[in-house]
Amino acid sequence: MSYSRKILAAANKIINDRRSFATAENKLRQTRIDAQIPEIAGLRKKLAATGLAAAKAMTMGEDAEKYIEGLAEINISVQNEISALLVKNGYPADWLEIPYECRKCSDTGFLDGHFCPCRKQLLIDLNRQSLCDISPAAECRFDNFDLNYYSPDVNEVTGYSPRAKMTEIFNFCREYSLDFDTDSSGLFLYGATGLGKTHLSLAVANEVIDRGFGVKYYSAPELFSRIEKEKFGSNSTDTIDETLECDLLIIDDIGSEFITQFTVSAFYNILNSRINCSMPVILSTNLSVEEMQAKYTQRITSRIIGSFTPLPFAGNDIRQIKRGEE
Ligand SMILES: [Zn+2]
Repeated sequence: MSYSRKILAAANKIINDRRSFATAENKLRQTRIDAQIPEIAGLRKKLAATGLAAAKAMTMGEDAEKYIEGLAEINISVQNEISALLVKNGYPADWLEIPYECRKCSDTGFLDGHFCPCRKQLLIDLNRQSLCDISPAAECRFDNFDLNYYSPDVNEVTGYSPRAKMTEIFNFCREYSLDFDTDSSGLFLYGATGLGKTHLSLAVANEVIDRGFGVKYYSAPELFSRIEKEKFGSNSTDTIDETLECDLLIIDDIGSEFITQFTVSAFYNILNSRINCSMPVILSTNLSVEEMQAKYTQRITSRIIGSFTPLPFAGNDIRQIKRGEE
């Protein structure tokens, strides 16, 4: 599982904040309760004393174990007394325990040397949020991809109906996302504009994020402008490596960027490095394979055809059909 440094750092900060908040809240509660219920203040002093005694007892050698056991018993009975007093005064019995958001890991985010489920969930949420900030990811899921927009009429030239073809592609993408792993093959989604390529690639992204993988999504113009900014040093905070750091990289609408020698060579480098490390990419484009060859050279196109699963989208522009229905 590979998340970008930004997401890992954001998760870290949130978990540290949770822990600080819980500790501060605990101190506040202690102070208030000590003032309100002096009996509890006394008992808490007793608790602190047994804790100190137990720490000292560690050096006692053979007799330590029995002594510490005795202290532990006292400790439990004092805690029970405190709980009873809290309840008597209208508080929950555990009011003076540190109110960690995650009791399993005490808001450290680690459990037995591994990520606690709370940290895993946080990474998933942050990854999804980062995708929703820059794409319509929230609206693009498998369950709202409507195959009824594709014509069931068999096309005489291709010999199949757009709906049959798209059903096949839809099923393939869903299975791909369910079986996704860091060494899955890349996908090449191509076909005319408005056929649902962005929708399906984001549906894959949503599913793969839910399964705990790091996913990054860029429209081609945004990706290349980031890379250009870094290369030519104008106010970019991300390095190219950080930009591409993820288990699944999605580059949407390749061909819509302003194509220069620089972007072509950057594109080749991205593809090459991801393919050489068996790291999956989902590419989508409105260009035909011939147009791809003309714009990006034979070398790039054959790299894509050779390593990615091609998914040719079929049908008529769905956005226009939807507009017609309104
Ligand atoms: Zn936790």
